[in-house]
Amino acid sequence: MEVIAATNNLHKLEEIREILGRLGYKVLSLDDIGIKTDIDENGSTFKENALIKAKEICKLTGRMSIADDSGLEVFALNGEPGVYSARYAGAEGDEKDEANNKKLIEKMKDIPEDKRQARFVSSIALIFPNGKQIVTEGYINGIIGYEEKGDSGFGYDPLFIIPELDKTMAQLSSLEKNKISHRANALEKLKRILIELKA
Ligand code: IMP
Repeated sequence: MEVIAATNNLHKLEEIREILGRLGYKVLSLDDIGIKTDIDENGSTFKENALIKAKEICKLTGRMSIADDSGLEVFALNGEPGVYSARYAGAEGDEKDEANNKKLIEKMKDIPEDKRQARFVSSIALIFPNGKQIVTEGYINGIIGYEEKGDSGFGYDPLFIIPELDKTMAQLSSLEKNKISHRANALEKLKRILIELKA
């Protein structure tokens, strides 16, 4: 069965492919099917944004569509950057991650070690052409570091320390990250629902 992923983010695509692939789904990107679109993510929650993206692609293609909306919530900053994670520092393109991390380091420079808890959140929406929808949400908890460490992953990974491993997300291989990430967690929940529906 084919499913269209409402993303061209290769990191997200890989994770979605790996997990749904094991269930027999072939995951195609927007590039794969020659669609170029810029969807306005104007929801106020990750769930709303995931639904906006998946519904739009389902409407455009008439095919089963999946979208992830994800981001970082820092508790000492009242959940910031939240749904603004991608555009936190207002930069675009290749410099975006660097600018976002710089802004977060600066905002948190005076926050003590024991108040730096945060979590990554991923909302996954799957929309069927008949209108049926499944939404799941996954999390991973961590601590925000004072400086960037590691070169893997993307986004806030170099600042996100996993206390049990004493490493940042950017110090993990993609295989290791894909086992424990917020997205993997949300996709596993989706997988369980899909298996139940087939049963
Ligand atoms: P989206 O593409 O609108 O869902 O925005 C996601 C943004 O949240 C990214 O640009 C990153 O800044 C951040 N983010 C989401 N998932 C991750 C992750 O796995 N690692 C690091 N940053 C992430």
